[in-house]
Amino acid sequence: PPLYMQRYQFVVDFVRRHKPKKVVDLGCADCSLLRKLKFHRDIELLVGVDIDSAIIRQKMYTLAPFPTEYLKPADQPLTIELYQGSVTEKESRTRGSDLVTCIELIEHLPLAEVERFSEVLFGYMSPAAVIVSTPNADFNPLLPGCSGFRHIDHKFEWSNSDFQNWALEMCRLYGYVVEFTGVGKAPCNVESIGFCSQIGVFHKGSFRSGTFVRSDKTENTSSYKLLYNVVY
Ligand code: SAM
Repeated sequence: PPLYMQRYQFVVDFVRRHKPKKVVDLGCADCSLLRKLKFHRDIELLVGVDIDSAIIRQKMYTLAPFPTEYLKPADQPLTIELYQGSVTEKESRTRGSDLVTCIELIEHLPLAEVERFSEVLFGYMSPAAVIVSTPNADFNPLLPGCSGFRHIDHKFEWSNSDFQNWALEMCRLYGYVVEFTGVGKAPCNVESIGFCSQIGVFHKGSFRSGTFVRSDKTENTSSYKLLYNVVY
């Protein structure tokens, strides 16, 4: 299957194993991943966020229940909410989820904004688990016709060690542990360059040892605009 499908499948497999109830997809684009996740009925709240309202609007109505789903409601209610907003802004409705996914998002942020995003994600949203995927620059020489970045909107592409340095710093600052994996295997003779899409799976450490422990006072920060809301 194409690489983007492998990335979605990675998330779907994670959801099957961990059964999160509240899931937030950052940079949800045309909601392709959300459309797959809505069939996992352990999920009670599914939130999508993208800065580009036009791309969300393209297919958002396909998230509506099928007529049969109205006729035979599931045991668990499912709410889907789509927001236009920037992941570098704090928004209280994204806090305290079980899983936040950032699939091919981070490389679209100017490097100067990555630090701000990191603080919002790990320090403010502070979910139980985070999945981050991003291109592995070490893999680019294997891609035919790829000189420079894989996409013109990429602000950077990280090597294996760039990504791992960032991820480990996040763990140190915010009290997470990370496991490195990916999708898109390199040929056996060059396996050491790692996966085509590198993935970090973060879990909140059992005690919060981070340097920046989040403040628990409830500020109601509202910076996103609700575009679509459906309750099953
Ligand atoms: N996650 C989707 C996937 O894997 O198919 C889409 C990835 S697409 C390459 C990156 C998305 O991030 C785009 O839809 C873009 O609009 C969005 N994006 C870029 N900067 C953003 C920001 N600051 N806040 C929210 N979304 C942003």
